[in-house]
Amino acid sequence: MAELRFKALEEVFSRKPQKVEFPSNEVSDYFGVNVFDMPKMEKFLNREAFRSVLTAIDEGSSIDRKMAEQIATGMRAWAAGMGATHYTHWFHPLTDGTAEKHDAFIEFGVSGDIIENFSGKLLAQQEPDASSFPSGGLRNTFEARGYTAWDVSSPAFIVDTTLCIPTVFVSYTGVALDYKVPLLKTMNALDKAAVDVCQYFDKNVTKVYANLGWEQEYFLIDNALFNSRPDLILTGRTLMGHQSSKDQQLDDHYFGSIPERAGAFMKDFEIEAYKLGIPVKTRHNEVAPNQFECAPIFEEVNLANDHNQLVMDVMKRVARRHDFRVLFHEKPFAGINGSGKHNNWSIATDTGVNLLSPGKNPKGNLQFLAFLVNVVKAVYDNQDLLRASILTAGNSHRLGANEAPPAIISVFLGSKLTEILDELVEKVTDRKMTPDEKTELKLGIGKIPEILLDNTDRNRTSPFAFTGNRFEFRAVGSAANCSTSMIALNAAMANQLKDFKVDVDQLIEKGIKKDEAIFQIMKRYILESENIRFEGDGYSEEWEKEAKKRGLTNIISVPESIEKYLTEQSKKVLIGNGIFIDAELEGRVEVEYEKFTKKIQIEARVLGDLAINHIVPTAITYQNTLLENVQGLKDLFSKEEFNDMAGARLELIKEVSFRISTIKKLVNKMIEERKVANKVTSEKDKAIQYDEKVRPFFDKIRYEIDKLELMVDNEIWPLPKYRELLFTR
Ligand code: ADP
Ligand code: MG
Repeated sequence: MAELRFKALEEVFSRKPQKVEFPSNEVSDYFGVNVFDMPKMEKFLNREAFRSVLTAIDEGSSIDRKMAEQIATGMRAWAAGMGATHYTHWFHPLTDGTAEKHDAFIEFGVSGDIIENFSGKLLAQQEPDASSFPSGGLRNTFEARGYTAWDVSSPAFIVDTTLCIPTVFVSYTGVALDYKVPLLKTMNALDKAAVDVCQYFDKNVTKVYANLGWEQEYFLIDNALFNSRPDLILTGRTLMGHQSSKDQQLDDHYFGSIPERAGAFMKDFEIEAYKLGIPVKTRHNEVAPNQFECAPIFEEVNLANDHNQLVMDVMKRVARRHDFRVLFHEKPFAGINGSGKHNNWSIATDTGVNLLSPGKNPKGNLQFLAFLVNVVKAVYDNQDLLRASILTAGNSHRLGANEAPPAIISVFLGSKLTEILDELVEKVTDRKMTPDEKTELKLGIGKIPEILLDNTDRNRTSPFAFTGNRFEFRAVGSAANCSTSMIALNAAMANQLKDFKVDVDQLIEKGIKKDEAIFQIMKRYILESENIRFEGDGYSEEWEKEAKKRGLTNIISVPESIEKYLTEQSKKVLIGNGIFIDAELEGRVEVEYEKFTKKIQIEARVLGDLAINHIVPTAITYQNTLLENVQGLKDLFSKEEFNDMAGARLELIKEVSFRISTIKKLVNKMIEERKVANKVTSEKDKAIQYDEKVRPFFDKIRYEIDKLELMVDNEIWPLPKYRELLFTR
């Protein structure tokens, strides 16, 4: 039974780190070679076609058919020169990954011969069968028509021998079936709303961008060990396994020297990432054993997200070359840290100003403060929406588990900014301010840059922390598509900035001077959203109590959290700002419920199978050995002698028997609950049923199995143990 495990261990012992060399010491020598970027477009397209791409990117306009022909021809010429034989539209359906369908660049020519071709039509639009992707009942399978359309703002790239064209995915009726369409819409909404607000401070601003710098955490597990764990293969996490005697308690992994095999893997995937134009910059060991992190330089949010999805794909592929598997699951191992994605988010203008960074002069600082206060207000008003955007089956193991931000959304600003906001509240009054008061206030604000410069306040327990020139949304799951959280955040901010503009304009109309109007509204917002600000330990129990007192929501149930997509406030933000239509939002919510149910369902099945087919038989084998042993003793020794020596063994037999029966009983009960849940027709109720009735069995069954792991002969235990998964290199 344990053969696979021991064979795997032997394999791991025999592994050698691979030698990986960077193609050149200068990354710039090969950065982006596999991307059809601006310089290449300029080279391969005629001037007219190149211009039309630039305009389309700048203005979000579409490209006409004739231009598309020219672009396609140029693109293929470049791709063919790079050895590409196929092309695909690459998109983000509502699953955990990206989708692609490769087509060769071939067709029959007029004379009947095969010729290579790539037409503008194929570049611009494709029709994948939409019925096989989740839509939440948005389209019936019999009208399974959907199409993908080129997203000009994200450049095409080559993976292996396939030209990949980033696309949006929509139904024929125009309904979004992916993550990209709504993300692009939120970028537009935020752009418009933020430009309007910027006009108070700087008339030259005509465009505002959202930036994203993601930090990706992951685990590396040896391929052979991974393959001996059906739970890892099928669910991405271990459903059982007793904690290793040593894991992360010595804090010796974080920022430690990177193990050689892992280092080789990192170099290798970084090379591929660079070739794909992904500016990966940081690599380090994370807190848990075999856990690592990678982070690029931030980019505009749409591109950054494409790059995150792409890099996850690249990592999975490259890992295999190094006999590794990379785990993106939020909680692959119980008892040690799970993985997250930290989304560093900021907004910046086309005049080169980061709106979340203190300005160079008092006016710039006021603008910074105004945007900052609006972020805090947006997070306060939309805590439930933000949580809904990140709380998934996988991530629910992390949030609130004393290793990751809690399920309570709060904002950390640092003591200096807190002081500044307090001062503002104190100084701004409803009556007209005297010139002296104004000067004093502005002086205070004028000091912000110096104050923040040496302000290294960091709070790693906050789900939403200000880090000097950006906010870090730290509660995002490692497996997530960054879009869901970025959609929520961008839309909430767009909505908030629109409100801000209305509020300020109202005061201006009443004859209040612009600066003073801005101050007054800021004061109001600071007071209204005060409760979301928290500077202390977000992992502590006291915070949980305090947050409750403050009326902040703390939702740990995934279905309950998903429901919050449909509150009046969420609808105001998402539908009111044109990100979704009602049917789209409802469809997405259905998809989320369904995803949750299916994940729990799969885990329940795998756990049941492993318990009954792997663990129970192993325990019985061990029990038989014990029984034989006891019988032998009985045959050999006198009754007194036997009673003397067999006590401990009999206890062991009893305990093993008891655990075996308990496991069987629990698995049966879990199956019964699943049957009941499966009959529920509403996706929401089904998800709740799975959450409340099926999921609670996981820990109970696991508890019994993990106890058995400690008792049963190591020689026959079938599944690689935690110490082996996490420490064999
Ligand atoms: P830490 O682990 O200390 O939080 P990292 O260096 O691992 O920081 O990652 C920080 C991320 O934040 C990087 O992706 C970086 O590019 C990004 N970042 C830095 N400045 C900004 C900004 N203004 N807007 C968005 N992201 C930013
Ligand atoms: Mg980091």
